[in-house]
This record gives sequence, C-alpha cells and structure tokens, in this order.
Amino acid sequence: MSEFISITGARENNLQDVTLRIPKGRLTVFTGVSGSGKSSVVFDTIAVESRRQLNETFTWFVRNRLPKYERPHAESLEDLSPAIVVDQRPVGGHSRSTVGTMTDIHSVLRVLFSRHGTPCAGGATAYSFNDPAGMCPGCDGLGRTVRPDWDRILDPARSLAGGAVRFPPFAAGTWQGQAYTNSAELDPDRPVGDFTEAERAFLMRGRPGSKVTVNGSGGTWTTEYEGLADRFERLYLKRDLSGMSEKTRDLVRGFLVEGRCPECGGARLNAAARATLIDGHSIADCSAMEVTDLIAVLRRIEDPVALPIAAAAVAALERVEAIGLGYLSLGRETSSLSGGEGQRLKTVRHLGSSLTGMTYIFDEPSVGLHPRDVGRLGDLLLRLRDKGNTVLVVEHDPDVIALADHVVDMGPRAGADGGRVVFEGTPAQLAASDTLTGRCLGRRTAVRAEPREADGRLWVKGAGRHNLRDVTVAFPTGVLTAVTGVAGSGKSTLVAELTAAHPDAVAVDQSAIGVSARSTPATYLGIMDTVRKHFARETGTEPGFFSFNSAGACGTCEGRGVIHTDLAFMDPVTTTCHDCEGRRFREEVLRLTVDGRSVADVLAMTAGQALDYFADPGLRRRLRALHDVGLTYLTLGQPLSTLSGGERQRIKLATRLHRTGAVYVLDEPTTGLHMSDVDGLLALLDRLVDTGNTVVVVEHNLDVVAHADWVVDLGPDGGRDGGRVIFEGTPRDLLAARGSSTAEHLRRATS
Ligand code: ADP
Ligand code: ADP
Ligand code: ZN
Ligand code: ZN
Repeated sequence: MSEFISITGARENNLQDVTLRIPKGRLTVFTGVSGSGKSSVVFDTIAVESRRQLNETFTWFVRNRLPKYERPHAESLEDLSPAIVVDQRPVGGHSRSTVGTMTDIHSVLRVLFSRHGTPCAGGATAYSFNDPAGMCPGCDGLGRTVRPDWDRILDPARSLAGGAVRFPPFAAGTWQGQAYTNSAELDPDRPVGDFTEAERAFLMRGRPGSKVTVNGSGGTWTTEYEGLADRFERLYLKRDLSGMSEKTRDLVRGFLVEGRCPECGGARLNAAARATLIDGHSIADCSAMEVTDLIAVLRRIEDPVALPIAAAAVAALERVEAIGLGYLSLGRETSSLSGGEGQRLKTVRHLGSSLTGMTYIFDEPSVGLHPRDVGRLGDLLLRLRDKGNTVLVVEHDPDVIALADHVVDMGPRAGADGGRVVFEGTPAQLAASDTLTGRCLGRRTAVRAEPREADGRLWVKGAGRHNLRDVTVAFPTGVLTAVTGVAGSGKSTLVAELTAAHPDAVAVDQSAIGVSARSTPATYLGIMDTVRKHFARETGTEPGFFSFNSAGACGTCEGRGVIHTDLAFMDPVTTTCHDCEGRRFREEVLRLTVDGRSVADVLAMTAGQALDYFADPGLRRRLRALHDVGLTYLTLGQPLSTLSGGERQRIKLATRLHRTGAVYVLDEPTTGLHMSDVDGLLALLDRLVDTGNTVVVVEHNLDVVAHADWVVDLGPDGGRDGGRVIFEGTPRDLLAARGSSTAEHLRRATS
C-alpha cells in the first residue's frame, strides 16, 4: 500500500496539468480563491475516479445497472481509497426525514422504548412513525395535517341562501350549493352561526339515508344528502391534488390550512406509542427535547438491562452535541436545516461508523459556524483522521487551515488564471510563503474607526418565533449591520422576522435558484436573448435556433448537455451527453459561427472574457454585475445547478444591484470566499450602502463583523439558551463587551 494518493497530469475544468501527492491517513486542506480549481481536484477528479474504480470492482451484471462515471481528464490517478463526500447539499427534503431518523438515533430510542418502556406497545416498529404499526392514524405519521379552513369556507354571520358558503364551487346558486339551500332540515335564511349543534352537525356531516331535491339541466331529482365537510374532504382532500387543474388546485389551496395534527399534537405517533413512558417521558417527549436535554434524561436511566442501549444513544447524541448542534431536537425535519447543519449531521453519521481506510471529502465545513465552534469541528475532523482515514477539506477559514497536516494551495487566481498548485506544505510554511493565501493568513483585523451614521430605524418588535425571547431590535438604516452569534442562537430567525415585517427588504439567500435544469448565468441574467439575436442577425437565421431550450437543443440530452441517472440507493449522477459532448446544441446550430465562434463557444466564455468581447451596453451592464459580485470566472453556460451556495447567493445579488432605498438581507455572504475575496465583497457592500441602501448580513467572518457600522449579537448560546440580544452597538464597543463569544473572538482577531 502506497502512503500517497498520486495524481498526474490532471486537466478537469481549469486544471493545468496538475501533479500532486496527497498523504494518506492525514488531514489535507485545499485553499485558494474561488474558481481556482479546488473542487476540480477534490470533487471532479479524486471523488469521481474513486467512485469509478469502486464500480469496476462489481460484476458485469451490477455494473450495467450503475451509473457510468467518466474517467476524469488526467494521465494517471493511483492509490485512491473509497471516497465519501460530505457536502452542503440540502439533506433529503421529504417530511418523514428528521434529525433522529437521519442519524439513526431514533431507531436506538425505539429499541429502548420497546424493551424498557411501560406499558409496552409492541416490538420496535410500534414506535416508528414511518411504520403503520406506530404511526398516528390522523396524519399517517407526518405530525401535520392539511384541513379545510372552516373560518374561510363558512361565514357564520350569513345564511345559507345569503352566501354563508364562501367556497365558490359549493356557493348558493351553484348546482352543488343547492344541496344546502334546498335541504328540508336546514333553514336557508337563518345565519349559520345561529344553528344548533345538531343542525351544524347535519350541515357538515349529514345523516345516513337523508335526501335532498336539486334542479339541474336534466330536470329535478332527489339524491343522497352529503355533508359539506364530507363532500369537501372527499373531493379535495382524499384525492390526489396533482390530478386537478392548476386553477382548481390554487383555488382549493386558498381554503386549506396546514397545522399540527390534532390527534397526536405533532408527535407523529399513535396513542399506544405515546403512552409508553420511561422515567415519565414518552418517545415523543424525547424527540421534542433539545439533544442536550435528552442526554441528561437518558443518563438518569439506571436499569441495568436498559443501560447499554441508553449508553449507545447517549454516545451518538454526544457526537451531535460535540459539533455544536446540541440545540436541535431529534424530531426536527431535516428539510428545515441549513446546509452547514446538514453537513455536520452527515459527519456525525460517519463518525459512528467503524470504516477505516476511507477518503472523506468536506466542502467548507466551517460554514454556519461561529469561531467558537470551529474548534469543535476541528476535533471532529481529527477524530476521523485518527480512525485511519484520509481527510480532504476545501476550506477558507484560517483556524481550520491551521489544523492541517498538509496544505495544497491552488491558484494563482480563478478560472483560466488558476488551475495550478502554487504551494504544498505545512500551514506554518504556507503562512511564511509569498502566496496570496500565505499573505492573508498573517493579516490582523481592524475594526471600523468611523461608523457611518444611520438615517433611520427598522423595528422588529417582540419577536418570539422559534427560540427568540420577546426580542426587540432597531436595525439602523443606511448602514451595514452584522447579525452575529453562535449557531442556533436565532440569527436566521431574527432576520426572517425583519424581512417579513418590511416589504422593501429583499432576502438574498443561498437556497437553490428555482429555475429549470437548463438555466445558466446567461439565461438567469437575461444575456441569452441578446446573444441569440446577435447570432441570428449575423447568420441570417432565427433567434430561436440558438436556444437550447427549444429549436436548437441537442435531441439526446434535450439541451441539458448532461444526462441524469437517478438511483434509489445512491446519489444521482450526471454524465456528459455523448452526442453534443456537453455543448447542448444540435450539430447544424454549432456549424453557424460569428467571428469563428459558435454559440456554444460563446457560452464557454467566462464572464470576464465576454466583457472583452461584447459591445452591447445592456449586455455589458449585466456582465459587470457578475464582475462586481466576484463571479468573473463563471462561464456563461455553466449550469446553475453546479454553483455552490455562496455562488448562488452572489449571482442572485448580481441581478438585484443598482437599486436605492432597498434593504438587502444576506445570509453569510462570505461562504466560499477566499480571505482576499472578502475585501471585494466588503467593497460591494459598502457601495450598496453608499448608494442609499441598507445592508444586513448574518456573518461569522470577523473581517466582516469588524467592518460593519453596527452589530447585533445574539446568544449567549444556541437553542433554548439563546434567543436574546446580548449586544447592540458599534464593533468598537463590541470589543469591550463582556459575556459575548463574538466579542471574545473579535478581541483575539484584532490584537
Ligand atoms: P474552486 O473550488 O476553487 O472554487 P472550481 O474547481 O469549482 O474552483 O472551478 C475551477 C474553474 O472551473 C472555474 O473557472 C469554474 O468556473 C470552472 N468549473 C467548475 N465546475 C464546472 C462545470 N461543471 N462546468 C464548467 N466549468 C466548471
Ligand atoms: P442561527 O441562524 O443563529 O443558527 P436559527 O435562527 O436558525 O439560528 O435557529 C434558532 C433556533 O430556532 C434553534 O433552536 C433552531 O433549532 C430553531 N429553529 C430554526 N428553524 C426551525 C424550524 N424550521 N423549525 C423548528 N425550529 C427551528
Ligand atoms: Zn397525528
Ligand atoms: Zn446533447
């Protein structure tokens, strides 16, 4: 067994003949500006080749059913070990996936309750909300139900004949509405609010055998009376909504409310499972508590038979706590977690496994972490390494870089100006080197000497959502405000309240851009129209020809350039379309060129190259916005689905620049940015402020905090122990604040 992973002559994306030896069983951190090629080495070369080689070990029969990974562009790739990628992609969105199911801790609790709870409801599945034996029958284990909104459907002040039924298909005068106005058992002229209990019950549920006479186009006939609630539920709730027209669906949605299931109160479990207790707590109680509290409950278990199971749960829960997620509950749906929280939970799962000799690959694991918690993250990475694994990390945070056994710095710049290894060695050698990263590592932060004056205030008053404790904050307008605090302290919740309360606030977040799989920077920024018209004019054809969304599309991949293969048991894979070789267009379209370039060649240009090439002022303005947000290195045709969270946020920002009087709310805008790129981001934020806007950022990066005009610090801790404002003021005053971890770390960074 070799002690190194060897890469020779790698050329994926922008890599320029990269040759590297990465020590096995060590922690290696990849650094460099965004777009320099870190992901191209780690994800597109090492991880892809490792999976491809793993697939080759299967039989022909299995292999034929697996995705075909293409060999990465490299002369040779040797001595790889199986790779596990722990990235920031959102954790499975479906509502049956919770922190407890994802970490497998829920199944340990189920065993504990089925063996030691009293009274016992049955074998383990009796405590599973994903199994008919344990699920609440009211909500099928979802904890939430969608119900008709009777306050909207019925107006109690009106009579049936006078329009009490407000749901249009059942309204008075319609053929369906006649059932209610014509019923002999209901007074059509009395306000519904004055009905007796029995009349109300008849209106909603009817009675077996009761009839009503209605008039239709075919004459008059007598039919079975169906209660209003029964009918609404039968037609709109017990049926698959996807079978209805978009219009009907929208109409019905307006008359539905979603809420906690009244039967289980959101616990997802049936009555028998909920009644089983250990030390006075049900499994539902355990799922609702914060992890930290659950550890305390399970530690009190003394029964010698239950003890080993409880201890296994405690060990797993402590791993969750150790990475700063002790404020989560096991019942929390994974779809509501941030990318960083999801990544850290995935890590927990791997820490519990006994695999060794693997290569673990992390994408900026410090995202979402307060400097206080970066230390704990480091411990986690070192523990993975010490179990005999190779750990590769793409990271910008100096505290994580400092932990590395080995650092590979990519550069010198982004895109075509990057793609080379500019440094290899220890963190200390890197700090002493003359590379961009090395120079940045030695920098001290300086707090803003003269904060800009606010020109007004935006209030959030008495906020109490999630863990916020009646929080009132005045956000100054016309300046840059940083909202700080450890993970789970309530930052996202607070800024969400700010955006909800002020219509002129625009949240620019890292969520997926809700556009089609064919979207690219060119389509998203509206550049594509101009490009198409330019090609049509110059070649004497139609603009539609140059669209990979319609006439011009390659028939094999339908203009995607890639083919997606979905596999139930693995991550979906994408491979380049063999027909158009990823160029997305039909052959005839590619033959039409302007200045020797096809439309595919134009899409392969970076934003920076396109700025040099095009003269159209509208187009240039849009490209310059990309430049302003630090995305000059993106090509016009790169699928938006390949962008990182930070890049997604910055491209959204690019479409919203050039406003005045707006309130921009950004969530960790430094994500994915090298220390040297942070200066560019700060310049952009300053420009937004200086052109009359308000900027509020949730940030952990101390350069940003120090640069802000105003800081709102939440804490002191996460979850139940957070949700309070512990400091409001200028960064200079923050330096003197006591009892704030943000203040403590800012003092360290500036001294
Ligand atoms: P980093 O990880 O250092 O930010 P990347 O390896 O993601 O850098 O990118 C290096 C270069 O390759 C950039 O110019 C980027 O735009 C380009 N690139 C990355 N992924 C793709 C892709 N799927 N298609 C085309 N170009 C890509
Ligand atoms: P931060 O942004 O500071 O990391 P958040 O505002 O995300 O903190 O979280 C504050 C608290 O609210 C935490 O206890 C978190 O678990 C809880 N919380 C956040 N989002 C949800 C949600 N969708 N459902 C339930 N609890 C949530
Ligand atoms: Zn229920
Ligand atoms: Zn194709």
